Amino acid sequence: KKKLLEVHNLKTYFFGDHGVVPAVDGVDILIHEGETLGVVGESGCGKSVTSLSIMRLLMDTPGKVINGSIKFEGKDLLQLSEKEMQEIRGNDIAMIFQEPMTSLNPVLRIGEQIQEAVELHLKYDKNKAKKHVIGMLKLVGIPRAEEIYYEYPYQLSGGMRQRVMIAMAMSCDPKLLIADEPTTALDVTIQAQILDLMRKLQNENGTSIMLITHDLGVVAEMCDRVVVMYAGRVVEEADVFQIFEEPKHPYTIGLLNSIPKLRQKIDRLDSIPGIVPNPTNMPKGCKFAPRCQHAMDHCLEREPSFYQVGEHHKCKCWLYQSELAKEV
Ligand code: SF4
Ligand code: MG
Repeated sequence: KKKLLEVHNLKTYFFGDHGVVPAVDGVDILIHEGETLGVVGESGCGKSVTSLSIMRLLMDTPGKVINGSIKFEGKDLLQLSEKEMQEIRGNDIAMIFQEPMTSLNPVLRIGEQIQEAVELHLKYDKNKAKKHVIGMLKLVGIPRAEEIYYEYPYQLSGGMRQRVMIAMAMSCDPKLLIADEPTTALDVTIQAQILDLMRKLQNENGTSIMLITHDLGVVAEMCDRVVVMYAGRVVEEADVFQIFEEPKHPYTIGLLNSIPKLRQKIDRLDSIPGIVPNPTNMPKGCKFAPRCQHAMDHCLEREPSFYQVGEHHKCKCWLYQSELAKEV
C-alpha cells in the first residue's frame, strides 16, 4: 500500500508564561492510502496537538512545531507557504472536530459555508456547487436538505451540526480525513450512524482516516492500525487485532483493563493508579514509570527506544529489550 502521510519526529512545544510544555515530543505517524489509523490515549497525551500540527492550525495557540517533518504525498507540509497550505486544507486533508460549533461559522447559512469550499477547491460554478452541497447534505442523512441549506448552525441540533461538519469535510473528496473525537459528544445511536457514514464515504472514495479517540470500542469497530500515545509520545503501534489480543506496553494493557465493556470511555483509568505527568515537569526516563507496576531502576533513568515485538508491532518499553528484539 502507498504511503499517504508520514510524520517524522514531530515536536510541538507550547511556550507559555509558566514555562515550556512539550505537548508532542518526537512522534512518528504513518498512514497508508485507504487506511484508518486510530490514535488513542488519555486526555492531554498529545493526540489533538498532533492533528492540529499536521493541519498547521496552531496559530491561535502558543504552540509551535519546533522539529520534524510532515510529509503528505511526499511533500513536507511544514515547508509550504500559508497559501499552499490553504489549498491542501479542506481539499486534500479535511478535519472534523468534537465540537462542530468551533468549525462552523455562526453567521453563515449552512449551504453557503459548504459551498464556499466547493467553489474554491473543486472550481464548480454556483449552480453545480449548490447541487453538490445539497447532495452531500442528503448523503450524511440530513432530512429536508433543501431547506437546511438556508438555515444557520444555531437552528440545528448537535447531531445535525455534526453531520453538517462531516458533509463539509467530505464535500471536496479529501484524501485524508482527520477526525478528532468525532462522536464523543453524541448519543450512542447518532454515534453509530456517524461512524457508518464515515465508513461508507471511505469505501466509496478510498479516503484515509486518522481517527483520534479515547473510545476503544470505536477503535475496534473502525481502525486497521492503532497508535497509542502517552505524554506526547507514541508508546505502541500495531494492527488493531494485535492491540486487542496481544497488547505489549504496560500503558496499553492498563487502557484495555480499564474497560470492562468495550463501549465504555477511558477518561479515567481506574486500573492504572496515578495521573498523566505534569508536562512542565516530566519524569526523566520512561514517562510512564511513575504509574508502571513493572518499572525497573533504569526505567527511571533512561527513556526506552522502540522495539519490534511483532511483524507490524512495536513498543517503546524496556521490557522488550532482549537479544531477539530489534531496536527500531
Ligand atoms: Fe514500565 Fe519501564 Fe516499560 Fe516504562 S519502560 S513502561 S516504566 S517497564
Ligand atoms: Mg480533494
